[in-house]
Amino acid sequence: MNSMIPTSAPLPVKPPDLKQDADYVFYELTRSICPECRRVIDGHILLRDNKVFMRKRCPDHGLFEVLVYADAEAYTSSTKFNKPGTIPLEFSTQVKHGCPHDCGLCPDHQQHACVGIIEVNSTCNMDCPLCFADAGPGFNLTLAEVEAILDRFVETEGQPEVVQFSGGEPSIHPDIVPMMQAAKVRNIRHIMLNTNGKRIATDDKFLAELADIRPALYFQFDGFDEETNRLIRGEADLLPLKLQALDRLAEANCPVILVPAIERGVNEHEVGRIIKFGIEHPAIFGINFQPAFHAGRHMAHSPLERMTIPDVIRLVETQTGGMFVKDDFVPVPCCFPTCNSVTYAYIDGDSVIPLPRLLNVDDYLDYITNRAMISISDDVKTALEGLWSSSAVPGAEKAAQNFALSCAACGLPEGLEDLSSIINNMFMIMFQDFLDPWTFNQKNVMKCCKEILLPDGKQIPFCAYNNVGYREQARAQLTAQEPERRQARRDGTRFEPQPLTFSFDRPLRTNGSNGSGRNGDGP
Ligand code: SF4
Ligand code: SF4
Ligand code: SF4
Repeated sequence: MNSMIPTSAPLPVKPPDLKQDADYVFYELTRSICPECRRVIDGHILLRDNKVFMRKRCPDHGLFEVLVYADAEAYTSSTKFNKPGTIPLEFSTQVKHGCPHDCGLCPDHQQHACVGIIEVNSTCNMDCPLCFADAGPGFNLTLAEVEAILDRFVETEGQPEVVQFSGGEPSIHPDIVPMMQAAKVRNIRHIMLNTNGKRIATDDKFLAELADIRPALYFQFDGFDEETNRLIRGEADLLPLKLQALDRLAEANCPVILVPAIERGVNEHEVGRIIKFGIEHPAIFGINFQPAFHAGRHMAHSPLERMTIPDVIRLVETQTGGMFVKDDFVPVPCCFPTCNSVTYAYIDGDSVIPLPRLLNVDDYLDYITNRAMISISDDVKTALEGLWSSSAVPGAEKAAQNFALSCAACGLPEGLEDLSSIINNMFMIMFQDFLDPWTFNQKNVMKCCKEILLPDGKQIPFCAYNNVGYREQARAQLTAQEPERRQARRDGTRFEPQPLTFSFDRPLRTNGSNGSGRNGDGP
């Protein structure tokens, strides 16, 4: 597939005889990157056929156009959900070169880190065709490095909300248990482990350790069909192992959020079945659907036909027979509102009641007009902000308290008397559309609330890390330090990491630049 995407209306070579109207509305100007060389270029946001596109031109690589959001009406009306950001206690870099080359967080950043992600290794026990981390041999951070990262996270956040251990496959890191314990002793509210579930399926000792720490599991699960697992994960026979891991997590009382990557033409048909399965399985408290994004390793794709949040919501509507409909989902205000949408439902046997049907969540989370609305209860608003946040973790007491407080505004459903029954009766469905080199939008990244935490204290917004060139440079430097790390382990001495440096002077070429390659289970 050619990476230079023809626009639907190619620019004419010679001026037409008659003036013509464009077939789109020019909505706004932003900054993006060239998907080929990653230089920062202007991005034009265009509205056409009730869809949102980005068109951009690289002086060296030409014109590109990509589908950004398949519902222009929802996109343009989402502005009201843009919540004022919270400034972190400290920044880690200066404004020097301009966004997105000063990460971070630099003083121009518009949000604190709701979620800190630590990639403890680059290796994995799988080799998925879809893997934004491009997992493979490289580095294994030391426990001391991770402790220093956590200490810096506490310095910048006070009491951090969520730390996610990721990779590679973090469960195979020999120190993953002490790393999670280190987060626990630092009073980080929620500890999450991103995993493909393989080690959990078979390792009794590890399962017992998880049962003790009780992290929330961010669990890769793309569907039931062999073909789905073959195309996205490279292993057709994954399902029995996944089911075994989920059953064992239920026994260990560890809450699970399923993370399906939905790719056009591969597993669109699996969305409804995943929801029904998730609601019925005792370990599963939520699902985070992620339209496949084409950073790192990914399959060939057409940028004009990629999956977006509204596409997945339509699949949910049609495949759940109306159990969930479009209006049940409300954008998440802490980041840029087009990045995530979420709903929470009260489940009672076959009855599923999404919270927005009981309460007008839109009014509470409207940051443009609601300040003047006397009828808004501050307690309910705070509770809804807690739920409609990237740091909300279903299956945890905090989310259940917020759910109860929100429900109290409209009358608690019968039977919801105590926190544990609320935890067991609430279910989250979230949609998360990560940016790739085609959809990269500096506006979203500047308000990103999910940061990759690095050993030298830098905190880099997830979508900047994956697209601009940070990942490649950090990986090379962390890998180059690996012999020293190993030596220090052998000698029983402390490994002192060098600061990571980033330079964006040269164009970057990656394996994803031609629209083919391989996207993974994201945070
Ligand atoms: S993404 Fe945020 S931290 Fe990074 S350069 Fe831009 S404003 Fe600064
Ligand atoms: S990680 Fe990407 S998609 Fe998510 S909030 Fe940050 S910029 Fe938006
Ligand atoms: S997507 Fe996850 S499980 Fe698959 S190779 Fe990448 S890190 Fe490993």
